[in-house]
Amino acid sequence: MSLSAANLQNEVISIIADLKNYIKIPVGVSNKHVHLTQHDYDILFPGEPMNMKKKLNQGDDFASDKLVTLVGPKGKMENVRILGPCRKYSQIELSMTDARALGIKAPVRLSGNIEGTPGIKIISPHGELTLDRGVIIAKRHIHVQTDDAKLLGLHSGQKVVVKIESTERTAYLDDCEIRVGDDFTLEMHIDTDEGNTVGAAPDSIGRIVNL
Ligand SMILES: [Zn+2]
Repeated sequence: MSLSAANLQNEVISIIADLKNYIKIPVGVSNKHVHLTQHDYDILFPGEPMNMKKKLNQGDDFASDKLVTLVGPKGKMENVRILGPCRKYSQIELSMTDARALGIKAPVRLSGNIEGTPGIKIISPHGELTLDRGVIIAKRHIHVQTDDAKLLGLHSGQKVVVKIESTERTAYLDDCEIRVGDDFTLEMHIDTDEGNTVGAAPDSIGRIVNL
């Protein structure tokens, strides 16, 4: 039996209503990294420009050519990359595994929400700096461009479940927070612990699902 025009129309309407469930979301795994204020950057790299090594997908974010060493009560981590451009606050984003190795109890937070977070010592070839706050474990999130968010029926702060398919570690991740911005590009950001959990590869995609 063929679909009637009315059935077909209803089918199309339901697909549009659930458009967000059909979109393939590229998944990006963020390694540990550092954001700095211009003030803090100048202490670590006085007189040295921050050069772009690789452009990132969101806004004007880029991976810089500058590396630092992070020092915590239990250990240190070398060659941690600074992301540019400089921001209004200094923030260090670690995975839980990184935080544990450094001996730092960091909370899971969205970028920019650093109130009450622990500090850390940062060493460069030219100087060092002790921050009294700024260490977070980045909360997994999905960047959505403003017009795309309207089309998909998504809004900032919304929590969704995402299915990430991989050869042997397909997983559903709950508590993925939607972040909407004019200069965002559709992309999900997870950290290295989460990337390992779902067997993420460079071409991994996620889909929003209704459980
Ligand atoms: Zn992000």
